[in-house]
Amino acid sequence: MIIFKKADDIQFFLKDKAALTGFVPTMGALHSGHISLINASRQANAYTVCSIFVNPVQFNDPKDYDKYPITIEKDILMLEQAGCDILFLPSVHEIYPQGTQLEKKYNLGYLETVLEGKYRPGHFQGVCMVIDRLLSIVTCSNLYIGQKDYQQCMVIKKLVELKNLQLSVNVNICATLREKDGLAMSSRNMRLNEDERKKAVTIYQVLEYLKKNYTAENLKQLKSNAEEMLKENGFKPDYVEIADAENLSAISEWDGKAKIVALVAAFLNEVRLIDNMVLN
Ligand code: AMP
Repeated sequence: MIIFKKADDIQFFLKDKAALTGFVPTMGALHSGHISLINASRQANAYTVCSIFVNPVQFNDPKDYDKYPITIEKDILMLEQAGCDILFLPSVHEIYPQGTQLEKKYNLGYLETVLEGKYRPGHFQGVCMVIDRLLSIVTCSNLYIGQKDYQQCMVIKKLVELKNLQLSVNVNICATLREKDGLAMSSRNMRLNEDERKKAVTIYQVLEYLKKNYTAENLKQLKSNAEEMLKENGFKPDYVEIADAENLSAISEWDGKAKIVALVAAFLNEVRLIDNMVLN
């Protein structure tokens, strides 16, 4: 695996290879979920590039940024073993030579006002800033992102449209990888202690509960039951929502046709976890 730290160097290397390149942007602390994206890219592209960059401008909570796990040696080993071809490992200055001032310049509309957008102001502008910059450096024809971050997938698709890249960059959304008990793999899981780790599975159980029990009329009651289940297991929920899977508008009465998705975000002490499940 070749490791690049400078934007100019990787850009030069990838020149003329965009049509052969798949790209997996990450913030490191890699787990099998990330590696599943590397595998998906390797199956369809001659070159697979992974980036590891903990993006300061997408953290609305500075404590969350300071505590974000960094396991770079292990990450490099995992990527080597997975057969990743290229790792881009830039510094903050390399990505933001003009500084890290968050600019509100991407018109994400409604998407930015709900769920993660509402609870993490500025977060998606920060995501767009970094993906915009990364896509200008790592020229590729396939981008791989995880359904684990459902709303982020929609934001990145929107960004690709806003930048008029939809004809040159394919956005591939990959399924969420889970631990044996169902907990969605996440770099933040490393921050859970033993007791918290046991309780963390409640989020998955809540999603399964919603999937098994939803009907056209009972969504409001189900969401309220789900919040109670989370609270009983030590969580402080930000939201439990059932939304239209295409546009994320909240649904209180299901018409029996629309594709719907359940989304949960909740704190377990200091650690904020998110997960989602398409219900139909
Ligand atoms: P992150 O390092 O958390 O920014 O994640 C990098 C990419 O990996 C994003 O596209 C995530 O959606 C994706 N990802 C994170 N967790 C999982 C998972 N459990 N399964 C599949 N993809 C994931």
